[in-house]
Order: sequence, then structure tokens, then C-alpha cells
Amino acid sequence: MSDIIQLLPDAVANQIAAGEVIQRPASVVKELVENAIDAGSSSITVRVKDAGKTYIQVVDNGRGMSENDARLCFERHATSKISEANDLFAIRTMGFRGEALASIAAIAEVTLKSRSSDNELGTIIRISGSKIEAQEKDSIPAGTNITVRNLFYNVPARRKFLKTDQTELRHIITEFNHTALAYPDIEFQLIHNSTQVFNLAAGNLKTRIAGIFGKQIQQNLINLETETSIVKITGFIGKPEYAKKTYGEQFLFVNHRFMRHPWFHKAVMKAYEQILPADHFPSYFLFFETDPSTIDINIHPTKTEIKFEDERSVWQILLAATREAIGKHNLSPSLDFSKEGIIDIPVLKKDQDITLPRENINRSFNPFENEGNTQYSGAIQRREAHRDWEKLYERKSNDDLTPGLGFRDPDETGQQQENGIRQEDNGIRQEARYLQMKGKYVLTPVKSGLMVIDQRRAHIRILYEQNLATLQKDSVNAQNTLFPETIELNTSDYKLCLELVDEIGKLGFEIRDFGHNCVIVHSIPANTAIHDIKSVIETLLEQYKNYASELKLDQHEKLARSTAIAAAIRYGKQLSIKEMQELVDQLFACSNPNTTPGGKAILNIVKLEDFEKHLA
Ligand code: ADP
Ligand code: MG
Repeated sequence: MSDIIQLLPDAVANQIAAGEVIQRPASVVKELVENAIDAGSSSITVRVKDAGKTYIQVVDNGRGMSENDARLCFERHATSKISEANDLFAIRTMGFRGEALASIAAIAEVTLKSRSSDNELGTIIRISGSKIEAQEKDSIPAGTNITVRNLFYNVPARRKFLKTDQTELRHIITEFNHTALAYPDIEFQLIHNSTQVFNLAAGNLKTRIAGIFGKQIQQNLINLETETSIVKITGFIGKPEYAKKTYGEQFLFVNHRFMRHPWFHKAVMKAYEQILPADHFPSYFLFFETDPSTIDINIHPTKTEIKFEDERSVWQILLAATREAIGKHNLSPSLDFSKEGIIDIPVLKKDQDITLPRENINRSFNPFENEGNTQYSGAIQRREAHRDWEKLYERKSNDDLTPGLGFRDPDETGQQQENGIRQEDNGIRQEARYLQMKGKYVLTPVKSGLMVIDQRRAHIRILYEQNLATLQKDSVNAQNTLFPETIELNTSDYKLCLELVDEIGKLGFEIRDFGHNCVIVHSIPANTAIHDIKSVIETLLEQYKNYASELKLDQHEKLARSTAIAAAIRYGKQLSIKEMQELVDQLFACSNPNTTPGGKAILNIVKLEDFEKHLA
């Protein structure tokens, strides 16, 4: 047999290698900005067009390159940052593999202009598909200016893989934010299609965080600082009351490098345990400094997962430091024990009207009635009950303008359901067919036993099927909010929200852009009663992001699910008999009343035989 193995041409090898480093426009931005930082720049400008798909330019005022280096930098494994294996254990620069520029030049059209301050003339090089096409000398500003056009022009399969401009821009912003947060003393600008997305002056970490996430965050930051022999941690954590339902303001850095570290995330979450409501995330911006030889930044090609030599100890230090920071601000519940048992007496403000406390007593309830106590008192009870019911009916029929499940506040409906007994329309007391337990389960007798329904899961299923139908029909299912609500989101949630505006609009959330990371919500889905609109929108976006990696779900499916989860009634929500009835009716009108779209059980039947067995 003749030899069949051959060496790949450099251009092909580079293209393959590029796949590791450059997945999308955001990876180019990340690599170029990191190079600018490594070059000691104090000002970095990023310009992108069409979310970087056609144009990415990074301009810095760093040390620049000599003519030779400008040519060499596009070679694979060409780096000025390490020269021997031992250097790998002392990395303080962002880059070190010498792969980025070679990769970018393999899959795009690149123009490099660079001049070091000790040279009068700079070098201009044009390279595309790994081939140098032109090289000249010219007088240009000191520093480096790299323009990357038509990314993946020669790899159509990868180009096709790119997402919408909004999604790609969101990725760019995420990368930009990581680096901008890690280097608050460097001035950064990001410009997209001639709009300025960020203009961040050099400053300290607090001003940088405010520059990115909005001024209001400044009052919500708690300082954290700890220094031990193995790690120094500094930065800010968010006040518990500032915690959000969306994930997105959580940042960990080690030696100025952004890192993902789910386990350290858990340490921070643990410190907030018991002071945050379920599914809320605290913000944090934490910077670890450690001897580079004690971490391994090599385990992931895009270098965001980092392994620490002594992870357990760092975990403990992080937990303790976070707890201490929370405690210092007198926010930890452990410092609040003294308050226990003391009744909070509200302070009466001037001009404040005093309202009588509302009695939540069902005056018509008579525990003996069924046993036929006295005819006379029974008759009075019935008459009074009838009057109460009429009052209730008046109020309800005025409210009931929206069809479907208009879930109301507990205090509006609470009177109807005491002891599981209600007045039917004819004023005759009947046994209730529906009971609510622990604000979580709806119980209803069925032929074979007692059916237990999870109220939230049931509502998720109902809304999910309605959402899917609405999305297919192209109709809108909305009720206007009394007062349009302006909500501020973090930059990437804001972009995502705008991206989804049309589709969520169909589901009833009419949302308009208000600029500066703010949107205005004009309407909510018709079959819900949402009080905390901001939290619902945050949950929706959070859920949608969670589904991002599930490729088998299409966009309608993701939206139908996320919106259902965001808008469904919560546990703890008191339901009136009528609401329980509607919930059950609508659940059984669903194509699959048994499980949520995510596959969780909605209902269970406790069998009559079991009653008999246990009571035998
Ligand atoms: P790495 O950053 O891993 O060394 P790159 O391919 O990103 O590899 O860059 C190769 C080399 O080119 C760098 O080591 C550096 O010497 C030089 N270089 C790249 N970008 C710049 C820049 N903006 N300013 C000065 N030198 C640069
Ligand atoms: Mg680099």
C-alpha cells in the first residue's frame, strides 16, 4: 500500500485551529482587546458593524509593534509573552498561546496598522486567509489598530452558524464587559454601527461598575476585602435587597482574568442563604489575586474555566469573606436575632389616614348548621349569609371584566373560602368541591379518590399551551397595565429583551424601548394577574437564557415555556373556589394535563382504596 498520510497545508491547519479560538465575532473582540491590554494601553476603542459580522476594529495606544513583529505576529505560536515551558506557571498577561492573530487571519480579511513610539514610521499589513497581501510603511499614530472584515468569509459553514445581530452583539457586550470590569483604570469605548454603546472613562472599580450597569447600582454595593497567604479577594457584593431574578451581574476574576467557577458561585450563594428569596441572585464583582503558579488557566481553550490548586481553602475564604461583608452591613439574619419576638410598631406619618384593620371573619359560618341546631338561628344565619354573598357578587361582577383566570389578591377573595365552605349562588350552604392546601395544592374529590393538583405547575401547563397557540395564530393576547411600568435591565438582558420584543408582544407583554437599558411595559398577558412586572420580565429572560443551550427547542417553544414559568401563579397564592375551579377546568382542557412542559408531574390521585386501607 502506498503512503496516504500527508501534512496539511498551513492555511488549512490554521483554519482548523481557528475553530478552537474564534467561535464568533465576540471571540475576535475578546482576543484583540486582550492583546491591547497586554500591550500596556491606557485607552482602547472597539468599533463593530453588523454585530461584528462584517467589521471589527480595535484601536489601542499601547506599545505597538516593530516591522518584524508586525509580520511575525500572524504566525502560529508567535508570542512575545512566553518563551519556555516554565513561563507557563507565571503568566500575568491575558494572552500567551500566540494563536489568536494567526487564527483570525486564517478566517477573515485583516488589516494591521502598528507603530511603536520609538519608530517614526509604522507598518501596515493586509492579510487574509493566512496570506499576506500587502505590506507598507506609513506615518500612523503610535499604538496598534487592527481591522477584521468579513469574518468566516472562507468558512461558509461557520458563517451560517452565526446568530442574529442582536445575539452576536450581546455576546460582544458580554466579552467587552468582562474586560472593562477587569481593568477599570483603562478607558474603553464600544461603538456599534455608529452608536456609542459604552464610553467608560478610566476610574475605579465602583465607577466602572456604574458605567456599565447604571448609576443606581452604586448605592447597592457592599465592599469586600480579605487577604490570606493563598489568595487575596477584593471587590463588591450586592446588597440582598438588590438581588435579582436574572442571572447576569455575577463576575469572578482571577489575576484580572474573567473566570467561570460554578463552585465559587455556590460559596457566594451560600453566604446569602436565608436572606434572599428563592431564585434570586445577588450581584457580585470579585477579584481574586493569587500566585499564577497556583492556578491552571489551561484547562479550557477559551480560558474562562480556571482550576485552583487549593480550591477547598479558597472556597472557605470566599464564603467567610462574603458572610463577613454582609454581616458588617448589618444585613445578615444572624445579627437580627435580637429582633425576634419584638412586634414592629409602624410609625404614623403626618397626614396619614388611619384605616381600621379589616376583619377576615366569615360571619355566616355556622359549624352546627348541618346538625340542624335551631331552626331560628339557622334562618338568620342564612339571611345574613345571603346578604354577604350579594355584596361579594356585586364586587366580583364589576371586577370580572377580563375573561379567564384573573387571579386576584388573597385579601380580595379570602372571605369566600374559609373552612372550605362557600355560599353557592342560591344561598344554600354546600360542601366545597375544591380545597387549597398550604397555598400550593388544590384538592378535589374525583371518582377514584382525591386528586391533588400542584397549582403553579397546573397554571404553567395552561399558560404554556395558550402561549403556543397564540404564537401560531399571530394574534395578541394582552391586557393593558393601569400604569405603564418602566424597568431597568442590565445591558445584556436589555438587548435580549429587545430581541424578543415582537414575540413576547404577541404573548401579551407589550414592551417598548426607552433607551439607556430601560424598557416600558404597557401590557401583560390577559389571563394573568401580575403585580411585580419587573420580576416577571426578569424571570422570563432568565428562563429564556436557561433554554438557550437546548438546541432541540425552537424559539416559540422556548418563549412559550419561559413566559408560562414567568407569569404562572406562585406558591402561596391564595385561590378562591372559583379560581380553583377555573384552574382545574382549564387544566383538563389541555392536551397534556399530567406534566409541565419540562416534564414535572402536575397531579396525583390518592386512591379511595388507600383511604380504606389506612382506615381499616
Ligand atoms: P498572544 O497574545 O497569545 O501572544 P496573539 O496571536 O494574540 O498571541 O498575538 C501575538 C503577538 O502579537 C503578541 O504576543 C504580541 O507580541 C503581538 N501583539 C498582538 N496584538 C498587539 C497589540 N495590540 N499591541 C502590541 N503587540 C501586539
Ligand atoms: Mg493574544
